[in-house]
Amino acid sequence: MKKAKYLLSISLLCLTIASCNSNNKTQNNNNYDSETIHQISLLQGLMLGDYYGSISVKELKQMGDTGIGTFDKLNGELIMTDGVVYRAKHDGTIEIVPDDELIPFSNVTKFDKDIEFETKEISNIDETLNTLTEKVNAKNSNQYYMVRIDGIFSKMNVRSELAQKEPYKPLVEVLKTDQTFFNYENIEGTVVALYMPPYMGNLNTTGWHLHFISKDKTKGGHVLDLSITSSKITMDQTNGFELYLPNGEFFKKLDLTVNQDDDIKEVEQGQ
Ligand SMILES: [Zn+2]
Repeated sequence: MKKAKYLLSISLLCLTIASCNSNNKTQNNNNYDSETIHQISLLQGLMLGDYYGSISVKELKQMGDTGIGTFDKLNGELIMTDGVVYRAKHDGTIEIVPDDELIPFSNVTKFDKDIEFETKEISNIDETLNTLTEKVNAKNSNQYYMVRIDGIFSKMNVRSELAQKEPYKPLVEVLKTDQTFFNYENIEGTVVALYMPPYMGNLNTTGWHLHFISKDKTKGGHVLDLSITSSKITMDQTNGFELYLPNGEFFKKLDLTVNQDDDIKEVEQGQ
């Protein structure tokens, strides 16, 4: 969690620029950089059953205001918008999560808008992702993106999962019995989507990962399919990535060299 080197370089820079505080886009009150995607643990650790939270919701909120993830014990899907951390519970409903709850896996950033555009109808998730990927390819597909899709969705298929009890099983096994699916029609809300470049395959899932929350903050989950009636899409392009690794006994013993690409695809797509 230490950022001594980075902070040192920022403060040296500030010595030479009088208006540093007002003009430096990347500096803010708690020294977390808005041009960085912060990641808690590895998706590959979560896949192997490491559902032990390693940082608090309070700490996560200092790193960003927008993101996705899950909670200690795999207790639901995490979606963060406008600085609020929500849980999409196993029953599909939403609650605001207290600051002291722990997080085993998440990606967040301080969202700032680099790209903005509007869409009319988009018929499914593949076409939606193609639309997003086109923008990424035009900008720089080797950087990171956090995306918001605010809109009306003619179809929204999401899932969430039951909190687990020790000993924890791998995620693929858990989802065989403990995930619940919810299908909504004509629902207004926000999708938060993360893009990871192709070279990130040992740390996370590459490409896109989407979570949804309804505008009235009552429904949400991990997105499996969607259709858009109309939407405004905003994209935050970031050139920084910072990884925080757990120090727990479970994580320590994991073999993270095992290729889990097929299992990850199964988990992400809910099949
Ligand atoms: Zn998810």
